[in-house]
Amino acid sequence: MTVASPIRTEYFELPADLTRLQTRAQQVAATFADRAAEVRRHLLDHAEIHPELWNAFRDNGWTRLALPGAEGSLLGLALVLEAFAAEGIVLWLPVLSTAVAHALAQTGPRELRDVWLPRIADGTAHLGMAATEPHSGHNLFGVRTEIRRAGDHFTITGVKQITSALDVVDRVLVFGRAGTGAGHTCVLLDPRTAGASITEIPMGFREGVRQFRLDLADVVVPADALVGAEGRGTAVMWPFTHIERTLTAALCAGTAAYSLTRAVDRARHRVIAADRPIGVHQAVAHPLAALHARLAATRLLVHRTAARIDAGADPQVIAGDSNAAKVLAADLAFDAADRALQVFGADAWDERAGWLDVFLDARLSRSGPVSNEFALNHLAQHVLGLPADTPH
Ligand SMILES: Cc1cc2nc3c(=O)[nH]c(=O)nc-3n(C[C@H](O)[C@H](O)[C@H](O)COP(=O)(O)OP(=O)(O)OC[C@H]3O[C@@H](n4cnc5c(N)ncnc54)[C@H](O)[C@@H]3O)c2cc1C
Repeated sequence: MTVASPIRTEYFELPADLTRLQTRAQQVAATFADRAAEVRRHLLDHAEIHPELWNAFRDNGWTRLALPGAEGSLLGLALVLEAFAAEGIVLWLPVLSTAVAHALAQTGPRELRDVWLPRIADGTAHLGMAATEPHSGHNLFGVRTEIRRAGDHFTITGVKQITSALDVVDRVLVFGRAGTGAGHTCVLLDPRTAGASITEIPMGFREGVRQFRLDLADVVVPADALVGAEGRGTAVMWPFTHIERTLTAALCAGTAAYSLTRAVDRARHRVIAADRPIGVHQAVAHPLAALHARLAATRLLVHRTAARIDAGADPQVIAGDSNAAKVLAADLAFDAADRALQVFGADAWDERAGWLDVFLDARLSRSGPVSNEFALNHLAQHVLGLPADTPH
């Protein structure tokens, strides 16, 4: 048999510069590993990412990776976030900021890009997203928040059910109904603007950030806060969604690696009988081996998805890949955390060990930022061509 165009092995390897970046990220992440709890707590107590860690990001140029196009690298950022998650440090804010930055880059306007992209690149700003509403949940098209133009400004009225990190972000991208009655509109809002009130939701600091309800009562934002075109807000959500799902998948892959490496270590050293570690038992070993196999495959898909976004691939391809990556990685993170709890036994339930946070954060990734069902809906309808059961 002749093979016309053999697959080149380098297609399965990271290029040398990204391998170096990954190695460096793993080295730096390892220096923070025994302070993972302190890093998590710092953001909650001081409304800022742990300064020493964030300085390391800035000094290594990793905040610049968030930039769209040739200036940044989504794959590079995915590798960095994965490396930190693999040490128990889940950095959710860069996911949100990068997703909003890409949406700004693709839909404009230039004035907002010029203000916010340099600040994201030098790590001096964070951006959030406010889309979800109480009565419509995942159904973005059912939002009732109204963004109405009034001369040189917009007024926003509505309720956003759950918005992450409003205590930290500089601006939040608000998705609502266009006041014209047709379509949707997005604006970039300072959550400290008069008329915007934020109420913390007690959620145990899932994703390592505080969560808030955002009430908007005739909030005035200048017309130049408009992102994308009025009435065409879904075009803004499209790139945001792909980036958010891909980087969520990278965090999940890292979290799965965190659980797996520590469970393996425990299985190798924990001896309760006959001087043999518990890992000698297939009942302990095989689930860990199966997780290893899934992690290897999932990481390839996550990396390929990020690489395709960097290469400007067809948005339909990117949508399919980012949804597939998110589903696989979220299930993997959950299963790996669940297995780690099993291997660690009673010690996993000591709150000081951090396993309960790992487990709950991993569980959350099945429900958000998009539920696995909605990601599978996309694959079923738009990749497999199956009929939709809801209007989209
Ligand atoms: C910790 C946390 C942080 C969040 N941060 C943000 C944020 O910063 N910004 C933001 O905008 N949102 C945020 N969200 C919202 C989140 O991303 C989801 O969009 C939201 O949880 C979905 O809405 P819901 O909970 O009302 O679920 P619902 O939409 O009520 O869905 C409930 C369940 O039913 C399933 N379901 C419903 N309809 C279908 C269907 N047609 N097919 C298959 N299954 C279906 C869903 O998959 C889900 O499992 C956050 C959520 C959490 C938990």
